[in-house]
Amino acid sequence: MRRPNRVFALAAAALLFSLLGLSLVGAGRASAAAGDAASDPAATAPRTEPVAPSGLPIALGARVAGDTERTRLVIDLSSGLQATVFPLADPNRVVIDLPEIRFDLPNGTGEEGRGLITTWRYGLFAPGKSRIVVDTTGPVAIDRTFVLPAADGQPARLVVDLVPTTAAAFAAKVAEARAARGAPTTTPDGIAPDSGVTADRTRRTRPLIVLDPGHGGLDTGAVATDGREEKTITLPFAQLLAQKLAETGKFEVKLTRDDDTFLPLDRRVEIARELAADLFISIHTDSAPQPYVRGATVYTVSDRASDAEAAATAALENKSDIIAGVDLPNASDEVADILLDLARRETRNFSRQISNALVTEMKTTTKLNANPQRAAGFRVLRAHDVPSVLVELGYLTNKDDEARLEDAAWREKTAVAMVGAIEIFFGPRLAQGREFGGK
Ligand SMILES: [Zn+2]
Repeated sequence: MRRPNRVFALAAAALLFSLLGLSLVGAGRASAAAGDAASDPAATAPRTEPVAPSGLPIALGARVAGDTERTRLVIDLSSGLQATVFPLADPNRVVIDLPEIRFDLPNGTGEEGRGLITTWRYGLFAPGKSRIVVDTTGPVAIDRTFVLPAADGQPARLVVDLVPTTAAAFAAKVAEARAARGAPTTTPDGIAPDSGVTADRTRRTRPLIVLDPGHGGLDTGAVATDGREEKTITLPFAQLLAQKLAETGKFEVKLTRDDDTFLPLDRRVEIARELAADLFISIHTDSAPQPYVRGATVYTVSDRASDAEAAATAALENKSDIIAGVDLPNASDEVADILLDLARRETRNFSRQISNALVTEMKTTTKLNANPQRAAGFRVLRAHDVPSVLVELGYLTNKDDEARLEDAAWREKTAVAMVGAIEIFFGPRLAQGREFGGK
Protein backbone atom coordinates (compact mmCIF):
# COMPACT_ATOMS: atom_id res chain seq x y z
CA MET A 1 0.00 0.00 0.00
CA ARG A 2 2.66 2.48 1.01
CA ARG A 3 5.13 1.71 -1.68
CA PRO A 4 3.26 2.82 -4.85
CA ASN A 5 2.34 6.12 -3.15
CA ARG A 6 5.90 6.58 -2.10
CA VAL A 7 7.25 5.84 -5.57
CA PHE A 8 4.76 8.27 -7.04
CA ALA A 9 5.69 10.94 -4.53
CA LEU A 10 9.37 10.40 -5.24
CA ALA A 11 8.83 10.59 -8.99
CA ALA A 12 6.85 13.79 -8.53
CA ALA A 13 9.54 15.19 -6.24
CA ALA A 14 12.29 14.20 -8.68
CA LEU A 15 10.41 15.92 -11.51
CA LEU A 16 9.90 19.03 -9.40
CA PHE A 17 13.55 19.16 -8.41
CA SER A 18 14.75 18.70 -11.97
CA LEU A 19 12.41 21.50 -13.10
CA LEU A 20 13.67 23.76 -10.33
CA GLY A 21 17.25 23.00 -11.27
CA LEU A 22 19.57 25.37 -9.44
CA SER A 23 18.46 26.15 -5.95
CA LEU A 24 20.21 28.12 -3.28
CA VAL A 25 19.76 27.19 0.33
CA GLY A 26 20.87 28.71 3.61
CA ALA A 27 21.32 27.10 6.99
CA GLY A 28 18.07 25.53 8.01
CA ARG A 29 15.96 27.06 5.31
CA ALA A 30 15.75 26.63 1.57
CA SER A 31 15.34 29.74 -0.55
CA ALA A 32 13.92 30.14 -4.03
CA ALA A 33 15.83 29.01 -7.09
CA ALA A 34 17.97 31.59 -8.86
CA GLY A 35 16.69 31.89 -12.41
CA ASP A 36 13.57 30.26 -13.80
CA ALA A 37 13.18 26.76 -15.16
CA ALA A 38 13.34 27.91 -18.80
CA SER A 39 16.84 29.32 -18.38
CA ASP A 40 18.08 26.23 -16.58
CA PRO A 41 20.19 24.15 -18.97
CA ALA A 42 19.34 20.99 -17.01
CA ALA A 43 15.66 21.50 -17.77
CA THR A 44 15.96 22.23 -21.49
CA ALA A 45 19.08 20.45 -22.72
CA PRO A 46 18.83 16.79 -23.71
CA ARG A 47 19.61 14.62 -20.69
CA THR A 48 23.00 13.05 -20.99
CA GLU A 49 23.80 12.80 -17.30
CA PRO A 50 23.41 9.43 -15.56
CA VAL A 51 20.04 8.67 -14.03
CA ALA A 52 19.39 5.88 -11.53
CA PRO A 53 16.97 3.24 -12.85
CA SER A 54 14.57 4.40 -10.16
CA GLY A 55 14.76 7.95 -11.55
CA LEU A 56 16.50 9.14 -8.37
CA PRO A 57 19.32 11.67 -8.62
CA ILE A 58 22.75 10.12 -8.08
CA ALA A 59 25.70 11.29 -6.01
CA LEU A 60 28.53 10.54 -8.45
CA GLY A 61 31.54 11.69 -6.49
CA ALA A 62 32.60 13.58 -3.41
CA ARG A 63 35.61 15.42 -2.06
CA VAL A 64 36.69 17.54 0.86
CA ALA A 65 39.00 20.46 0.20
CA GLY A 66 40.54 23.33 2.17
CA ASP A 67 42.00 23.62 5.63
CA THR A 68 41.02 24.51 9.20
CA GLU A 69 40.26 28.12 8.14
CA ARG A 70 37.71 27.03 5.53
CA THR A 71 36.68 23.52 4.57
CA ARG A 72 34.58 22.71 1.54
CA LEU A 73 32.53 19.54 0.99
CA VAL A 74 31.61 18.98 -2.66
CA ILE A 75 29.16 16.31 -3.86
CA ASP A 76 28.90 15.74 -7.63
CA LEU A 77 25.30 15.08 -8.62
CA SER A 78 23.50 13.74 -11.69
CA SER A 79 21.04 16.61 -11.43
CA GLY A 80 20.34 19.67 -9.31
CA LEU A 81 18.36 19.25 -6.15
CA GLN A 82 17.37 21.09 -3.03
CA ALA A 83 19.34 20.67 0.17
CA THR A 84 18.69 21.77 3.73
CA VAL A 85 21.80 22.20 5.85
CA PHE A 86 21.81 22.68 9.61
CA PRO A 87 24.13 22.23 12.61
CA LEU A 88 23.58 19.74 15.42
CA ALA A 89 25.32 19.63 18.81
CA ASP A 90 26.55 16.88 21.19
CA PRO A 91 28.69 16.02 19.31
CA ASN A 92 29.26 18.82 16.79
CA ARG A 93 27.80 17.84 13.44
CA VAL A 94 26.47 19.36 10.25
CA VAL A 95 23.46 17.66 8.70
CA ILE A 96 22.64 17.92 4.98
CA ASP A 97 19.09 16.78 4.21
CA LEU A 98 18.28 15.88 0.62
CA PRO A 99 15.43 14.27 -1.26
CA GLU A 100 16.09 10.57 -1.70
CA ILE A 101 19.14 10.09 -3.90
CA ARG A 102 21.34 7.13 -4.78
CA PHE A 103 24.90 7.31 -3.48
CA ASP A 104 27.30 5.90 -6.07
CA LEU A 105 30.43 6.60 -4.02
CA PRO A 106 33.48 4.37 -3.60
CA ASN A 107 33.80 2.25 -0.44
CA GLY A 108 35.47 4.17 2.34
CA THR A 109 34.18 7.54 1.18
CA GLY A 110 33.84 9.85 4.16
CA GLU A 111 36.10 7.84 6.44
CA GLU A 112 38.87 10.38 6.12
CA GLY A 113 38.29 14.05 6.64
CA ARG A 114 40.29 17.19 6.18
CA GLY A 115 40.37 20.65 7.70
CA LEU A 116 37.31 21.06 9.93
CA ILE A 117 35.75 17.76 8.85
CA THR A 118 36.81 14.58 10.70
CA THR A 119 34.51 12.03 9.01
CA TRP A 120 31.20 12.02 7.18
CA ARG A 121 28.60 9.47 6.12
CA TYR A 122 25.51 9.27 3.98
CA GLY A 123 22.46 7.19 3.19
CA LEU A 124 18.71 6.88 3.43
CA PHE A 125 17.36 8.56 6.57
CA ALA A 126 13.63 8.05 6.13
CA PRO A 127 11.39 7.08 3.21
CA GLY A 128 12.02 9.63 0.44
CA LYS A 129 14.73 11.38 2.44
CA SER A 130 18.51 11.02 2.15
CA ARG A 131 20.95 12.56 4.55
CA ILE A 132 24.64 13.36 4.86
CA VAL A 133 26.03 13.75 8.38
CA VAL A 134 29.36 15.52 8.78
CA ASP A 135 31.39 15.25 12.00
CA THR A 136 33.44 18.36 12.67
CA THR A 137 36.56 19.03 14.69
CA GLY A 138 34.74 21.68 16.74
CA PRO A 139 32.02 24.32 16.47
CA VAL A 140 31.62 25.41 12.83
CA ALA A 141 29.52 27.92 10.95
CA ILE A 142 27.84 26.94 7.69
CA ASP A 143 29.26 29.81 5.71
CA ARG A 144 27.81 29.00 2.31
CA THR A 145 25.64 26.28 0.77
CA PHE A 146 24.76 26.16 -2.89
CA VAL A 147 23.90 23.81 -5.75
CA LEU A 148 25.55 24.49 -9.10
CA PRO A 149 23.82 23.18 -12.21
CA ALA A 150 25.70 20.97 -14.65
CA ALA A 151 27.80 23.14 -17.00
CA ASP A 152 30.85 22.88 -19.29
CA GLY A 153 31.03 19.09 -18.96
CA GLN A 154 30.97 19.37 -15.14
CA PRO A 155 28.24 17.58 -13.20
CA ALA A 156 25.84 19.44 -10.93
CA ARG A 157 27.46 20.06 -7.56
CA LEU A 158 26.33 20.52 -4.01
CA VAL A 159 28.83 22.70 -2.16
CA VAL A 160 28.93 23.30 1.60
CA ASP A 161 31.55 25.65 3.05
CA LEU A 162 32.38 25.43 6.74
CA VAL A 163 34.38 27.93 8.79
CA PRO A 164 35.34 27.88 12.49
CA THR A 165 33.10 29.63 14.97
CA THR A 166 32.70 29.97 18.74
CA ALA A 167 30.84 27.43 20.86
CA ALA A 168 28.27 30.09 21.77
CA ALA A 169 27.63 31.07 18.15
CA PHE A 170 27.34 27.40 17.21
CA ALA A 171 24.85 26.72 20.02
CA ALA A 172 22.77 29.71 18.91
CA LYS A 173 22.66 28.40 15.33
CA VAL A 174 21.70 24.92 16.55
CA ALA A 175 18.75 26.40 18.48
CA GLU A 176 17.78 28.65 15.56
CA ALA A 177 17.86 25.77 13.08
CA ARG A 178 15.82 23.60 15.44
CA ALA A 179 13.15 26.29 15.72
CA ALA A 180 13.16 26.77 11.92
CA ARG A 181 12.57 23.05 11.43
CA GLY A 182 9.75 23.20 13.93
CA ALA A 183 11.41 20.27 15.61
CA PRO A 184 9.63 18.97 18.67
CA THR A 185 11.59 19.40 21.86
CA THR A 186 11.08 15.95 23.31
CA THR A 187 11.07 13.49 20.44
CA PRO A 188 13.46 12.94 17.56
CA ASP A 189 12.46 14.96 14.51
CA GLY A 190 12.29 14.02 10.89
CA ILE A 191 10.69 10.65 11.48
CA ALA A 192 7.22 9.85 10.28
CA PRO A 193 5.21 8.87 13.37
CA ASP A 194 3.48 6.20 11.30
CA SER A 195 5.97 3.40 10.75
CA GLY A 196 3.49 1.50 8.60
CA VAL A 197 3.59 -1.24 11.22
CA THR A 198 0.15 -1.82 12.62
CA ALA A 199 -1.50 -4.55 14.61
CA ASP A 200 -4.58 -5.19 16.61
CA ARG A 201 -3.94 -4.33 20.24
CA THR A 202 -6.77 -6.57 21.41
CA ARG A 203 -5.92 -9.82 23.12
CA ARG A 204 -4.68 -12.54 20.84
CA THR A 205 -4.25 -16.28 21.03
CA ARG A 206 -0.78 -16.23 19.47
CA PRO A 207 2.16 -14.27 20.86
CA LEU A 208 3.37 -11.35 18.76
CA ILE A 209 7.10 -11.19 18.23
CA VAL A 210 8.72 -7.99 16.97
CA LEU A 211 12.05 -8.59 15.22
CA ASP A 212 14.32 -5.59 14.94
CA PRO A 213 17.05 -5.71 12.27
CA GLY A 214 19.79 -3.45 13.66
CA HIS A 215 20.84 -0.22 11.92
CA GLY A 216 19.78 0.70 8.36
CA GLY A 217 20.07 3.57 5.91
CA LEU A 218 22.96 5.90 6.71
CA ASP A 219 23.62 3.97 9.92
CA THR A 220 25.63 1.04 8.56
CA GLY A 221 26.54 -0.48 11.93
CA ALA A 222 29.82 -2.37 12.23
CA VAL A 223 31.88 -2.86 9.08
CA ALA A 224 33.75 -6.11 8.31
CA THR A 225 37.30 -6.19 7.00
CA ASP A 226 35.88 -7.00 3.55
CA GLY A 227 33.65 -3.92 3.70
CA ARG A 228 30.47 -5.83 4.47
CA GLU A 229 28.12 -3.72 6.60
CA GLU A 230 26.21 -4.93 9.64
CA LYS A 231 22.92 -3.50 8.35
CA THR A 232 23.10 -5.77 5.27
CA ILE A 233 23.43 -8.86 7.51
CA THR A 234 20.84 -8.03 10.17
CA LEU A 235 17.96 -7.43 7.74
CA PRO A 236 18.07 -10.73 5.78
CA PHE A 237 18.70 -12.65 9.01
CA ALA A 238 15.66 -11.07 10.68
CA GLN A 239 13.61 -11.81 7.55
CA LEU A 240 14.74 -15.44 7.65
CA LEU A 241 13.90 -15.71 11.35
CA ALA A 242 10.49 -14.11 10.72
CA GLN A 243 9.79 -16.68 8.02
CA LYS A 244 10.82 -19.58 10.28
CA LEU A 245 8.67 -18.28 13.13
CA ALA A 246 5.66 -17.80 10.84
CA GLU A 247 6.07 -21.34 9.50
CA THR A 248 5.42 -22.79 12.97
CA GLY A 249 1.92 -21.28 12.88
CA LYS A 250 2.32 -20.42 16.57
CA PHE A 251 3.39 -16.80 16.34
CA GLU A 252 2.54 -13.47 14.81
CA VAL A 253 5.68 -11.71 13.61
CA LYS A 254 6.43 -8.08 12.70
CA LEU A 255 9.65 -6.39 11.61
CA THR A 256 10.60 -2.88 12.73
CA ARG A 257 12.12 -2.30 9.31
CA ASP A 258 11.81 -4.28 6.09
CA ASP A 259 14.15 -2.26 3.86
CA ASP A 260 17.37 -0.26 4.03
CA THR A 261 15.90 2.68 5.93
CA PHE A 262 17.26 4.26 9.09
CA LEU A 263 15.09 3.92 12.18
CA PRO A 264 15.86 5.73 15.46
CA LEU A 265 16.33 3.52 18.53
CA ASP A 266 13.37 5.08 20.35
CA ARG A 267 11.13 4.40 17.37
CA ARG A 268 12.05 0.71 17.49
CA VAL A 269 11.08 0.61 21.16
CA GLU A 270 7.84 2.49 20.43
CA ILE A 271 6.88 0.02 17.70
CA ALA A 272 7.20 -2.90 20.13
CA ARG A 273 5.18 -1.02 22.76
CA GLU A 274 2.49 0.26 20.38
CA LEU A 275 1.95 -3.28 19.15
CA ALA A 276 1.92 -4.61 22.73
CA ALA A 277 4.48 -7.15 21.55
CA ASP A 278 5.03 -10.24 23.68
CA LEU A 279 8.70 -10.38 22.74
CA PHE A 280 11.19 -8.01 21.10
CA ILE A 281 14.42 -9.32 19.58
CA SER A 282 16.97 -6.89 18.18
CA ILE A 283 19.39 -8.52 15.71
CA HIS A 284 22.97 -7.26 15.43
CA THR A 285 26.53 -8.27 14.66
CA ASP A 286 29.39 -7.23 16.89
CA SER A 287 32.82 -5.74 16.51
CA ALA A 288 35.78 -5.76 18.89
CA PRO A 289 39.27 -4.26 18.90
CA GLN A 290 40.73 -7.78 19.31
CA PRO A 291 40.33 -9.87 16.14
CA TYR A 292 40.28 -13.15 18.14
CA VAL A 293 37.07 -12.25 20.02
CA ARG A 294 34.25 -14.26 18.51
CA GLY A 295 30.90 -15.97 18.96
CA ALA A 296 27.27 -15.01 19.44
CA THR A 297 26.16 -13.10 22.55
CA VAL A 298 22.69 -12.52 24.00
CA TYR A 299 22.18 -9.21 25.80
CA THR A 300 19.51 -8.03 28.19
CA VAL A 301 19.12 -4.51 29.53
CA SER A 302 20.69 -3.42 32.77
CA ASP A 303 21.58 -0.08 34.31
CA ARG A 304 24.89 -1.62 35.32
CA ALA A 305 26.80 -3.44 32.62
CA SER A 306 27.78 -7.04 33.37
CA ASP A 307 31.34 -6.32 32.21
CA ALA A 308 33.45 -3.76 30.39
CA GLU A 309 33.00 -5.34 26.93
CA ALA A 310 29.22 -5.37 27.36
CA ALA A 311 29.34 -1.68 28.27
CA ALA A 312 31.46 -0.98 25.18
CA THR A 313 29.05 -2.88 22.92
CA ALA A 314 26.05 -1.00 24.33
CA ALA A 315 27.85 2.33 23.89
CA LEU A 316 28.55 1.45 20.27
CA GLU A 317 24.99 0.30 19.54
CA ASN A 318 23.54 3.33 21.32
CA LYS A 319 25.40 5.64 18.91
CA SER A 320 22.97 4.89 16.04
CA ASP A 321 20.99 8.11 16.43
CA ILE A 322 24.11 10.27 16.70
CA ILE A 323 25.53 8.63 13.58
CA ALA A 324 22.33 9.37 11.68
CA GLY A 325 22.10 12.97 12.93
CA VAL A 326 18.86 12.49 14.84
CA ASP A 327 18.09 15.57 16.93
CA LEU A 328 17.74 14.39 20.53
CA PRO A 329 17.21 17.64 22.44
CA ASN A 330 16.02 16.07 25.68
CA ALA A 331 17.29 12.53 25.59
CA SER A 332 16.34 11.68 29.15
CA ASP A 333 15.59 8.49 30.97
CA GLU A 334 12.09 7.46 31.82
CA VAL A 335 10.59 8.79 35.02
CA ALA A 336 11.07 6.59 38.02
CA ASP A 337 7.72 5.22 39.00
CA ILE A 338 6.83 2.41 41.35
CA LEU A 339 4.33 0.89 38.93
CA LEU A 340 6.86 1.11 36.12
CA ASP A 341 9.33 -0.61 38.41
CA LEU A 342 6.96 -3.50 39.06
CA ALA A 343 6.24 -3.92 35.36
CA ARG A 344 9.93 -3.64 34.71
CA ARG A 345 10.75 -6.38 37.22
CA GLU A 346 8.34 -8.81 35.56
CA THR A 347 9.56 -7.84 32.11
CA ARG A 348 13.18 -8.33 33.15
CA ASN A 349 12.34 -11.78 34.47
CA PHE A 350 10.91 -12.68 31.09
CA SER A 351 13.89 -11.11 29.31
CA ARG A 352 16.20 -13.23 31.43
CA GLN A 353 14.16 -16.36 30.57
CA ILE A 354 14.34 -15.79 26.80
CA SER A 355 18.06 -15.04 27.14
CA ASN A 356 18.52 -18.39 28.95
CA ALA A 357 16.53 -20.25 26.31
CA LEU A 358 18.43 -18.63 23.43
CA VAL A 359 21.81 -19.48 24.89
CA THR A 360 20.73 -23.09 25.63
CA GLU A 361 19.37 -23.66 22.14
CA MET A 362 22.00 -21.74 20.21
CA LYS A 363 24.99 -23.38 21.85
CA THR A 364 24.19 -26.67 20.10
CA THR A 365 24.39 -25.15 16.62
CA THR A 366 26.10 -21.81 16.87
CA LYS A 367 29.52 -20.81 18.14
CA LEU A 368 28.81 -18.75 21.24
CA ASN A 369 30.99 -16.13 22.85
CA ALA A 370 33.10 -17.26 25.83
CA ASN A 371 30.69 -15.23 27.97
CA PRO A 372 27.45 -15.51 25.98
CA GLN A 373 24.96 -13.94 28.41
CA ARG A 374 25.58 -10.34 29.22
CA ALA A 375 23.73 -7.20 30.23
CA ALA A 376 24.23 -3.49 29.58
CA GLY A 377 22.35 -0.24 29.06
CA PHE A 378 21.07 -0.76 25.51
CA ARG A 379 18.62 1.99 24.59
CA VAL A 380 16.77 -0.29 22.18
CA LEU A 381 15.93 -2.69 25.06
CA ARG A 382 14.29 0.00 27.20
CA ALA A 383 10.61 -1.00 26.79
CA HIS A 384 9.56 -1.59 30.40
CA ASP A 385 6.60 -3.75 29.41
CA VAL A 386 7.98 -5.82 26.52
CA PRO A 387 10.48 -8.62 27.23
CA SER A 388 13.46 -7.61 25.10
CA VAL A 389 16.79 -9.14 24.10
CA LEU A 390 19.52 -8.14 21.71
CA VAL A 391 21.33 -10.92 19.87
CA GLU A 392 24.80 -10.23 18.49
CA LEU A 393 25.15 -13.04 15.95
CA GLY A 394 28.94 -12.87 15.83
CA TYR A 395 31.87 -10.53 15.35
CA LEU A 396 32.49 -8.86 12.01
CA THR A 397 36.04 -8.32 13.24
CA ASN A 398 36.67 -12.10 13.46
CA LYS A 399 37.45 -14.08 10.29
CA ASP A 400 35.65 -17.28 11.43
CA ASP A 401 32.53 -15.41 12.50
CA GLU A 402 32.56 -13.43 9.27
CA ALA A 403 32.66 -16.67 7.26
CA ARG A 404 29.78 -18.12 9.32
CA LEU A 405 27.64 -15.04 8.79
CA GLU A 406 28.22 -15.42 5.03
CA ASP A 407 27.18 -19.09 5.16
CA ALA A 408 23.48 -19.72 4.34
CA ALA A 409 23.52 -23.11 6.09
CA TRP A 410 24.84 -21.51 9.29
CA ARG A 411 22.20 -18.77 9.17
CA GLU A 412 19.51 -21.38 8.62
CA LYS A 413 20.46 -23.53 11.63
CA THR A 414 20.97 -20.49 13.83
CA ALA A 415 17.50 -19.20 12.94
CA VAL A 416 16.03 -22.66 13.62
CA ALA A 417 17.78 -22.75 17.03
CA MET A 418 16.34 -19.33 17.87
CA VAL A 419 12.85 -20.50 16.89
CA GLY A 420 13.37 -23.47 19.25
CA ALA A 421 14.28 -21.08 22.08
CA ILE A 422 11.23 -18.91 21.42
CA GLU A 423 8.98 -22.00 21.45
CA ILE A 424 10.45 -23.01 24.83
CA PHE A 425 9.98 -19.47 26.16
CA PHE A 426 6.28 -19.34 25.22
CA GLY A 427 5.71 -23.10 25.72
CA PRO A 428 3.98 -23.09 29.11
CA ARG A 429 1.73 -20.17 28.25
CA LEU A 430 0.83 -21.63 24.84
CA ALA A 431 0.04 -25.00 26.50
CA GLN A 432 -2.27 -23.27 28.96
CA GLY A 433 -4.11 -21.55 26.10
CA ARG A 434 -3.28 -18.16 27.61
CA GLU A 435 -4.06 -14.97 25.77
CA PHE A 436 -1.29 -12.61 24.68
CA GLY A 437 -0.75 -8.90 24.10
CA GLY A 438 -3.26 -6.15 24.78
CA LYS A 439 -1.34 -4.97 27.84
ZN1 LIG B 1 24.61 -3.23 15.85
